Amino acid sequence: MAISAGRVSGEQELLEDVRLDDAWSLVQGFSSLVRESGSDAERQAAERITSRLASWGVPHTVHEPELLISLPRHASLAVADRNYAAKTPSMAASTPPDGMTAPIVYMPAGFARSVHDIFSGAAVDGDVTGKFVVTEGLPMPARVSDLEARGAAGVVSISPGERIHEGICTPIWGSPDLTSAGRQPRIPVVSISRSDGKDLVARIGADAVATMTTRLDTGWRTIPVTVAEIRGSVEPERFVLLHGHLDSWHVGIGDNATGDATLLEVARLLHEHRRRLARSVRICWWSGHSHGRYAGSTWFADAHANDVARNCICHINCDSPGCRDATVYSDVYAMAEAEAFTRQVTFDVTGLTADCRHPARAGDISFNNLGVSTFFMLSSTMPEELRLQKGYHAVGGCGGNIEWHTEADTMEIADRDNLLRDIRLYALATFRAANLPVHPLDFVGTLTQIEGALRRYAGEVGTLADLSGTFGLIADTRRDLDRLYDSVRSVDSVSAARPLNDAILAVGRSLVPVLYARSGKYRQDPALDIPLLPDFAAAVAARDSVPAGILRTELMRARNRLDGALLDAGEAARSAGHSTV
Ligand SMILES: [Zn+2]
Repeated sequence: MAISAGRVSGEQELLEDVRLDDAWSLVQGFSSLVRESGSDAERQAAERITSRLASWGVPHTVHEPELLISLPRHASLAVADRNYAAKTPSMAASTPPDGMTAPIVYMPAGFARSVHDIFSGAAVDGDVTGKFVVTEGLPMPARVSDLEARGAAGVVSISPGERIHEGICTPIWGSPDLTSAGRQPRIPVVSISRSDGKDLVARIGADAVATMTTRLDTGWRTIPVTVAEIRGSVEPERFVLLHGHLDSWHVGIGDNATGDATLLEVARLLHEHRRRLARSVRICWWSGHSHGRYAGSTWFADAHANDVARNCICHINCDSPGCRDATVYSDVYAMAEAEAFTRQVTFDVTGLTADCRHPARAGDISFNNLGVSTFFMLSSTMPEELRLQKGYHAVGGCGGNIEWHTEADTMEIADRDNLLRDIRLYALATFRAANLPVHPLDFVGTLTQIEGALRRYAGEVGTLADLSGTFGLIADTRRDLDRLYDSVRSVDSVSAARPLNDAILAVGRSLVPVLYARSGKYRQDPALDIPLLPDFAAAVAARDSVPAGILRTELMRARNRLDGALLDAGEAARSAGHSTV
């Protein structure tokens, strides 16, 4: 493999100019702002960012899209004479003002063991019709939609700790359209603390009845989406997208004031070094992440769909950097093609090894359907041994600190040294990705991932599908890609690399969607667990519940789609080969 994850000129100077002052004072300023999506406090937070951008002369725009936002306002749960403190997740249904009463049952599900289990939400078994179902874990959409589909009247989630984590329970990714609007949750959901959960479970007898009250302010509202652009000088239309969310639960210091501050410092720095930037960098502060299921980033993907599809090199999500005790990079998301780059840049800046895994369907990774590669989302975290030693349960941000999504995510969660280190990491990753002559995306790794996933599925579907031709196409495409990447050696300038880069992006636009998405280029898949090659995963999941004929049809279509993507990728790779020989 010749593709370079190496250095580009100007990196040392860039790193030497990183400073913490502006970032840290932004974090401090945010510690008094509860940044609910579309709120006045969030607008003040956006102004703190834009006023600095303006003072530095960084070009930026604040968009005001009108999107579906849901703000929890009140929740309570009463069983007999006992009232439990409760929270309701964003996008759950509101009950009538004096609540809703129903029989209550306990169905154990167990707590997530790692950050990677959190976003899935294991199913529970049993008859739930007309009942409130009490179960462990966060009120994740997979769980809530499963129980709603089975006729549950409501869900009571027992938090893994004493502080109740805020969250969002809709499976709709971004604002709804006609194909997704029907998935809006229609049942109320509350979360209670772990000890209250224990108390509640002990009280639930055969005839237990509970009253649940929830009130949410759900509707279409304008939210601020701030976009700064630092234009590159050689290929300004091509860009790296660096982004994070501005909105928060409570004052959200670790999630995500530290990320907002990282973006601010990277904007300042890249603007100062703009003459060294070959391609453009767009830096986005989203709203609607927490209260609109990634509404802001999804709006951006919609509003700029074809520009993103044609010109975005990769996107880098910045969520919860610089937190207390977050000294390792053991839970880093990276698509296979970006792994080598992610590891190299992490090592070059921090001297540490990044353990990469493919992104879950979570965070503002709203560009899979458009076929854009990504890395990071969560970056630094506390070591697993330390987490266990502290007795912390797994959480989905704040570097593993369990104050995540609670009132306690305050200044103590931010760490100056770790934040400075992470700013340097995001700055260098962005600069390098925008400047390397050849884009740092090695799709041979992606093909290996596709092949591995397909072999596992092939073992499960047996004779229902003949996938031998597809394995042959994978081998052909690998040869085409090897030839493409071999020609990288002879390329040393951004302009000479253009045909190669066009081919590399075209390969990604074919392979990324088939590996991560089912809903088509301009739609969003739901916020549910989406396994690799989701068409095949869906067939395997349905194999015991539908007739063989349906499965055969499904698998033939899944195979055709994958074959088509492989053929397109091979063709793109060969076209660049011709133009550079
Ligand atoms: Zn976050």
